[in-house]
Amino acid sequence: MEQSRTITIVGGGTAGWMTAATLSRYLGRGWRIVLVESEEIGTVGVGEATIPQLQILHRALGIDEDQFLSRCNGTYKLGIEFAGWGDADSRYIHAFGEIGRPLGLVPFHHYWLRSRGKAAFRALDAYSLNAVAAYAGRFQRGAPQGRAPLGGLGHAYHFDASLYARFLREYAEARGVMRIEGRIVDVALDGESGNVTGVTLAGGERIGGDLFVDCSGFRGLLIEQALGTGYEDWTRWLPCDGAIAVQCARTDPLLPFTRSTAREAGWQWRIPLQTRTGNGHVFCSRFMEADKAQDVLLANLDGAPVTEPRLLRFTTGRRKRFWHRNVVALGLAAGFMEPLESTSIHLVQSGIERLLRFLPGSDLRDADVDAFNAQTVFEYEAVRDFLILHYKVNRRAEPFWRACAEMQVPDSLAAKIDLFEANGRITRFNEELFAEVGWLQVMAGQGLKPAGHHPLADQPTDAELAEFLSLLANGVAQQVGAMPTHLDFIARHSPAALA
Ligand code: FAD
Repeated sequence: MEQSRTITIVGGGTAGWMTAATLSRYLGRGWRIVLVESEEIGTVGVGEATIPQLQILHRALGIDEDQFLSRCNGTYKLGIEFAGWGDADSRYIHAFGEIGRPLGLVPFHHYWLRSRGKAAFRALDAYSLNAVAAYAGRFQRGAPQGRAPLGGLGHAYHFDASLYARFLREYAEARGVMRIEGRIVDVALDGESGNVTGVTLAGGERIGGDLFVDCSGFRGLLIEQALGTGYEDWTRWLPCDGAIAVQCARTDPLLPFTRSTAREAGWQWRIPLQTRTGNGHVFCSRFMEADKAQDVLLANLDGAPVTEPRLLRFTTGRRKRFWHRNVVALGLAAGFMEPLESTSIHLVQSGIERLLRFLPGSDLRDADVDAFNAQTVFEYEAVRDFLILHYKVNRRAEPFWRACAEMQVPDSLAAKIDLFEANGRITRFNEELFAEVGWLQVMAGQGLKPAGHHPLADQPTDAELAEFLSLLANGVAQQVGAMPTHLDFIARHSPAALA
């Protein structure tokens, strides 16, 4: 009889249960999936804002959006507002979805750049359906009825991380995943291959496996503590190393976006859920003590705190190898860059997709492992550069921000900044996560000013340009005006099950 292969997932946080749910959906006969987690240790408990790609995973799993949002007290997210990142008074949205419309070969933003200094000029936000809807507190799913030249909104979610893990756990267990409760106290390695052969729980139980997925969080129980894989430290570029997290009472209106507000030595997040608001202050301990970071956070909440503030410490960077021997690290065990653009949960998702692409048969092949690692490194570095951009391009006066502005950035990012500053051009390589439109909003929003624009954007006359721009901005405003409020939309489709 054919022997089944066992994949053992260590950890039941967001990463562990996303992995278990997806593998249970795609691996059928011949595979056994086991997940070990420890309630005593618990999960990191933060990680509540996402990017639109999560919809792809949910569609693949057959998860109903309304049911998911209702079970996880979730809201819609149209983008992230960055307050005070350029200079202390600046404000812009990195919104999902498209901005304006290209004309012929030329991306829209070159026409926008051409309009600088002319009467027709409006902020970039005016051409983004997502940005205008976000500020208006409105939401509409999918493409609207009738004439809608700008299409529909792009959306992601905010949700309660522990409810999400519970939701996915139900999904995975219903599809045969075996959950084992217990604290792992020992990891056994094969003397010859160095592969992990099993883990031992405090009660003495031993759990084996053919392939192990390390979702044990920052500690990297298998990938680091057992295999000593090594960590590439990115603190020189992403200097924040701590966060204080606290939840507060919900305030109205229920806004459909994350807010990121720059502070003296870091930044503060605000994530609105149906039943409460998640808040955190990410800070750099070289410039601010944790006690002060907590005071800053508590002094800047929208509502009364409903939990005790919690301190989390981290080192930005990545594992030197994401897949080492028979261990694949996902989630915080793989690395952590910053919650700034809500990319961690997405990196779990893409790591799972990649694991499925390179799923080993009865033998582990170095070529598969190397390809997995190379692709993951590319993905992490592209995200890293995008995050560094936010710190590098600022005009704030505080010592932390001056140090960020003066740091030397990776060549790959320096080239992107130079290219944009010349003629507003943006290139996206291969499968880079963030599209041109994302880079545009952050580069322009933080104050980079290209010297020129694409010469073909000079073809319309000034009057034609003004008409084109005003048609677009009016179209956006009209379309948003016809949308229901975010609160009404949620109340109708996905009110919190656990209000
Ligand atoms: P954890 O949640 O830490 O889970 C680890 C699991 O391993 C737990 O179940 C634990 O019990 C188990 N475990 C550990 N040791 C043992 C042991 N010895 N025996 C048995 N079990 C064990 N991501 C986003 O996408 N958006 C955000 O907005 C966002 N904000 C963040 C803010 C902060 C401050 C931080 C630190 C992270 C944020 N993240 C965000 C990242 C996000 O929280 C994580 O990517 C996500 O929660 C996945 O975590 P995890 O499952 O890898 O680890």
